[in-house]
Amino acid sequence: MAKRILAAALTAALALSLAACGGVSRQETAETRTVYTMDTVMNLTVYGENASAALDAAEETLRALDAKLDRHDAASAVSALNRGGTAEDAELAQLTDIARTIGTLSGGAFDPTIAPVMDAWDFTGDAPRVPSDEELAALLAHVGLQNVAVDGNTITLSDGAQLDLGGIAKGYAGDAVRTVLAEFDVTSAVLDLGGDVGLLGAKPDGSDWRIAVKDPADPSKFLGVLTEADTFVVTSGIYERGFEENGVRYHHILDPKTGKPARSGLVSVTVVCGDGAWADALSTACFVLGEEGSLALRDTLAAEKNLRIELIFVTEDGHVRYTGGLAERFVPSEEGDYVYETLA
Ligand code: ADP
Ligand code: MG
Repeated sequence: MAKRILAAALTAALALSLAACGGVSRQETAETRTVYTMDTVMNLTVYGENASAALDAAEETLRALDAKLDRHDAASAVSALNRGGTAEDAELAQLTDIARTIGTLSGGAFDPTIAPVMDAWDFTGDAPRVPSDEELAALLAHVGLQNVAVDGNTITLSDGAQLDLGGIAKGYAGDAVRTVLAEFDVTSAVLDLGGDVGLLGAKPDGSDWRIAVKDPADPSKFLGVLTEADTFVVTSGIYERGFEENGVRYHHILDPKTGKPARSGLVSVTVVCGDGAWADALSTACFVLGEEGSLALRDTLAAEKNLRIELIFVTEDGHVRYTGGLAERFVPSEEGDYVYETLA
């Protein structure tokens, strides 16, 4: 855990130093706040005269969401829902509905009812372990989108299902912080939510931000630099969390079909998307789906939701492939051994 926090802090420092370089005028002072919440380190950098008050409100928003969504906190709304099978909460209902929708569109690659299977692996606990196939099969019997219903502000779980919003919560928090900052007339901010990056507007001088994308093989290095504004950049990869047993690495993104760490030929996938909750959940979904399935999902999102996403895949065999919308926006790093290719 300490290692993860350190890695997150280093990446944040790198991303922000990159974001900050390139001519911010002297009058545009920035204020940065580090918030330890949602089991990670967040760095919020806000520009403008209201920065301080806006950061106070943003921090409060993050802490309130963590208190609501942390299923390992017995006092949270999600815990109450998991215990009682039903809960009434407008925000939780909205988030659960988004999670369900992404679950359906991804053919179940994203599944917020994966909780009991996550618990069996215990990735974040003191004694992570590989569950037996029988144990996984028994737990998977209760996993499935059909076991979550949202009706107005009421969420209902059936068949003993348990909710885990860990694959979407940070992105949703990014959306919430963006809304709060806008209320303080902030038009320029970088939110590093433990590796999920939210960009509010452009830099104060009007130019786009520059965001480093981590090299999944060595998170102290980077794959390249993205030039973006007003969007979210979220990466899911095998390096984030996991453990090793008998020389095999087990990471924390599970394929809901098998209950085991997803093996789709990817070591990481980065999603660029204007909506934080979607960006976050889609990065998890795309990691499970692999390259081909992710590109199909990208087409579905454009056709059915009018939602445009761009993707950067890092494959097990050393390729970095990125979608055409990033051709002008992603500049590969020259230090790695990857083969870079642009997709249609
Ligand atoms: P990170 O937490 O490192 O940012 P992700 O956004 O990819 O990474 O989320 C991983 C988390 O999502 C896991 O810790 C778990 O809580 C949850 N999760 C794992 N597999 C799935 C899945 N297939 N569908 C939905 N949530 C998942
Ligand atoms: Mg995610």
